[in-house]
Amino acid sequence: MKVPMLDLVGQYQTLRDEIMAEMNDIFNKQAFVLGARVKKIEEEMARLAGVPYGIGVSSGTDALLLAVMALDIQPGDEIITTPYSFFATAGSIVRAGAKPVFADVDPDTFNMNLDHSASLISKKTKALLPVHLFGQMIEPKPWQSLAEKHNLTLIEDAAQAVGASRNGVVAGGLGDIACFSFYPTKNLGGAGDSGMVLTKHAHLEKNIRENRVHGGHDRYYHDRVGINGRMDEIQAAVLVAKFKHLNAWNKRRRSLAALYDQSLRNLPVQTPVAAKDAYHTYHQYVIKAPRRDELMQFLRSKEIGCDVYYPVPLHLQKCFEFLGYRKGQLPVSEALAKETLALPISAELTEAQIDYVAGMISEFYARS
Ligand SMILES: *Cc1c(COP(=O)(O)O)cnc(C)c1O
Repeated sequence: MKVPMLDLVGQYQTLRDEIMAEMNDIFNKQAFVLGARVKKIEEEMARLAGVPYGIGVSSGTDALLLAVMALDIQPGDEIITTPYSFFATAGSIVRAGAKPVFADVDPDTFNMNLDHSASLISKKTKALLPVHLFGQMIEPKPWQSLAEKHNLTLIEDAAQAVGASRNGVVAGGLGDIACFSFYPTKNLGGAGDSGMVLTKHAHLEKNIRENRVHGGHDRYYHDRVGINGRMDEIQAAVLVAKFKHLNAWNKRRRSLAALYDQSLRNLPVQTPVAAKDAYHTYHQYVIKAPRRDELMQFLRSKEIGCDVYYPVPLHLQKCFEFLGYRKGQLPVSEALAKETLALPISAELTEAQIDYVAGMISEFYARS
């Protein structure tokens, strides 16, 4: 049985007519960049998170870059973040001229460790930039308190957590700024690259909206140097069409995750640890597995998609050598890079496919 990591082709079948009608309209009018559809998805996302402002941008990476750019970074300014994330989390900090300082992660949730983060705060610290990894939010209250206590900006990297919540707080509604990605493989994905910045603060909204179009306040009048970070109507149309289904899709992911939890519980793997107060949306279903690389080869030989997120923690990336980190310094992240494996999950997969994956994992450990 073939089991892809996620089934975007299956998802598209149910939305084809609606999306194609929108494409027709966009192409007939030839109005492609920023417009009514972008405005609509900005409003939907802001409403979802319960914040006043949404700014549609060109990618999750640019959302992060614009967020950090809005902080008026001076040379030497530091931002505390996680090494166990997609590259863009730290990449954007460096591109905006700040220095990433890495805090290790929790061995169960894989999210950034609060106590370690607190211990790294110095006079140079400007912001905290945690990630809601794999669809599970960080704990809202203690993170908010930590940011407030030290007068730091809290930026959520919510790229993997659209529709997730924790203790009544929706992803994007926690920090001063939140960044989303609509890369096609995300829980809400477009037809190419796009992203969203949410914020509660009018001055940040103004800064980010201006920097999205080269930092001009009026056309051709620039007080700052911004970027070309605009969202296009093609992306927005696809996102508006899919947004209506987001809740149902996330629910379905949760029920497939529960099925995995059940089927894998007697095997020598650790299934994802979801906090009691977390509405985990399983952007990825990631297990810790002994002999991870062998298991991955075995599953792939059975036509089961699986992947490693992430094989190299960010503090050990070659491009960040200048930061001076050494192997062994962030042991939890380094161990996870060797142990974790993401299994197929998406709303379109069937129970039979999940059973098949679990059965093959069981066979792998029974044989050897
Ligand atoms: C996907 C992702 C990004 C980057 O988003 P793009 O739209 O691909 O630029 C940033 N951070 C995390 C945690 C992500 O998963």
